Amino acid sequence: PKEKINILLLENISDAAVAEFKEAGYINTRKLSGALSEQELIKEVKEAHLLGIRSKTQITANVLAAAKKLQGIGCFCIGTNQVDLKTATEHGVAVFNAPYSNTRSVAELVIGLSVMLIRRIPDKNVAAHKGIWMKEATGSFELRGKTMAIVGYGSIGTQVSVLAEAMGMKVLYYDVETKLPIGNAEQVRSLKELFSKADIITLHVPSNKSTENMINKETLQYAKKGAIFLNYARGEVVELNDLKEALESGHLSGAAVDVFPVEPEKNGAAFSTPLQLLPNVILTPHIGGSTEEAQHNIGLDVSSKMLNFLEKGASFGSHTIPSLSVPAVDNSHRILHIHKNVPGVLSDINRELSSRNINILGQYLKTNDSIGYVVLDVDSKLSQEAFALLKEVNHTIKTRMLY
Ligand code: NAD
Repeated sequence: PKEKINILLLENISDAAVAEFKEAGYINTRKLSGALSEQELIKEVKEAHLLGIRSKTQITANVLAAAKKLQGIGCFCIGTNQVDLKTATEHGVAVFNAPYSNTRSVAELVIGLSVMLIRRIPDKNVAAHKGIWMKEATGSFELRGKTMAIVGYGSIGTQVSVLAEAMGMKVLYYDVETKLPIGNAEQVRSLKELFSKADIITLHVPSNKSTENMINKETLQYAKKGAIFLNYARGEVVELNDLKEALESGHLSGAAVDVFPVEPEKNGAAFSTPLQLLPNVILTPHIGGSTEEAQHNIGLDVSSKMLNFLEKGASFGSHTIPSLSVPAVDNSHRILHIHKNVPGVLSDINRELSSRNINILGQYLKTNDSIGYVVLDVDSKLSQEAFALLKEVNHTIKTRMLY
């Protein structure tokens, strides 16, 4: 019964998500505006079946231990660092997020910034604010006919590619994987080749070992004199002092940077970077993906993943229990079984059920290093009996029955 399901949403999650839960019939959906401390959360989470958070709420091992009824956590944001994923895995709690909902927001801004920088608007803007008239055409260009170089041709990189071509640009990209080009874009084989042909260089790679400080003195030298550089990916990818030098020497003619190796935790906190006060440089406070549309899309994406898990057992996109897509339930009862991934659990399940003549109508399994997740569709008349048996199987972490 849906009214017995408690959904707790913290940190002012988008109304789009609240509406999805209510429309699906979950009247016990409670939305709070702020984050909660560990102590408050331990109290509030006891009765919750689903919990929605954004980036401020810390889901610690203590919180998870108190959350006896919790089936899933939805992170209504891009990352999942705020959740102790290892402990959530051990408790069999699914954790979802929305990794791609702000893709378009970043891509649009990259194009907008490219126009601003190639026209040297930042300097003219500062001058005009100071009462200085700076009308000139020298050193200002159109994007049309220029080459956009994209480092990392994933979700954002490909969107930038489409928009850049719509502006009349030639698009080249470099990626560690062979990626299918969109439109007339072309993949090149090295960063060196990419940079040597670029008028605008834009980064869209993840932060990992292979990308740490990949933009440094040496790689910046591959760029043509006067190129423009954008980092709307991750702060760790760029050696900022080397970028500063390339800007000061005029090797690069402008830059826009949104992400930094160290970023303030709160609005209003002090922020410093070697790039401050350089000409034709735009600095933004990690807002590449921050739009109302992205928040709305995050609301829809995460709520649908949570509802699919609650109602069908589909764990697609989960970071803890294995990610599994399953068909809708028909003419049977569905039982979800989360267990430690040790040999023999599945055969124990099947043996128990067949010993009572409980016919399995559908079975879907996925495992990861630590746990296994099996979805079983059984005859509705025997489902209670099956459920009782499954709870007792060795190494069981969690079982749940859907109707
Ligand atoms: P994605 O995973 O879809 O794409 C990343 C691409 O980079 C992949 O194609 C991958 O093969 C490639 N890649 C990985 N290592 C590489 C390397 N060493 N050299 C070249 N290519 C490499 O990611 P995405 O969703 O497009 O996000 C891209 C970046 O943007 C991420 O770092 C993400 O954190 C960041 N991001 C920033 C904001 C913001 O607010 N500024 C918002 C969203 C995403």
